[in-house]
Amino acid sequence: MGYNERNPSFTFRFGEYRHGKLNKLAKAAKMPTVEYVRNAILDPFLNGDLIPKAKDDLAVEMTKLKLEKIKAEIEYLKLKNKYIETFGTPMSNSATRILKPQILQPQGNQTGVLRMSPYDAKNNIIQCVECSQLFRWENKDEFLQQKYEFERHMTNNHGRALSYLEKSVLDDLRFSGASI
Ligand SMILES: [Zn+2]
Repeated sequence: MGYNERNPSFTFRFGEYRHGKLNKLAKAAKMPTVEYVRNAILDPFLNGDLIPKAKDDLAVEMTKLKLEKIKAEIEYLKLKNKYIETFGTPMSNSATRILKPQILQPQGNQTGVLRMSPYDAKNNIIQCVECSQLFRWENKDEFLQQKYEFERHMTNNHGRALSYLEKSVLDDLRFSGASI
C-alpha cells in the first residue's frame, strides 16, 4: 500500500461564513486552519471526546426534567413490581390512580403535605396531613360523618379545599369496619 492510500487527503468546499468562523477559531488556538480542523475537531470527534454542546439553559433544563420524569417512571414501575411481588396481585385501579400522580406529577406549587394521603390503612383512620388530627369511626354512619368532618376541618382549620389526592382517597374509601 502506497503512502497516498495509507494517508488519503480530503478535499471539500466550505461556505464563506463557516470558513471564516473556522479561520477565527484556528487563529485563537494559534494553529493553521487545516490543522485546527483535524486536531481540534475531527480527531477528538473520532475519539469520542467531542461532546455536543447544549443549545442553551432551556435545553439543559428540559433534559433535566426529562431525566427526572424517567427516574419517576422507573420508581413507579419498581413500586408496582414490588407490590406484585409482595401481594401476588397487581395493584388495584384505585391505588394506581392515587400513587401514579403522586410519583409522576408532583405539582410544582404544592407543598409536600398535599401529596400525602390522609388515610392510614393500618389503623383504618383518617389523619389530617397538616395538624395530625385523627378522625375515627365505630360504624358506617360515623364513617360517613367523619369523611364529611375531615373536609370541613380542612376548610375551617386550614383554609383550603381538599387536595386532589385527598379527594381521590376519600372518594375511593369505603367503609370496612371500625377504626383501630
Ligand atoms: Zn388539620
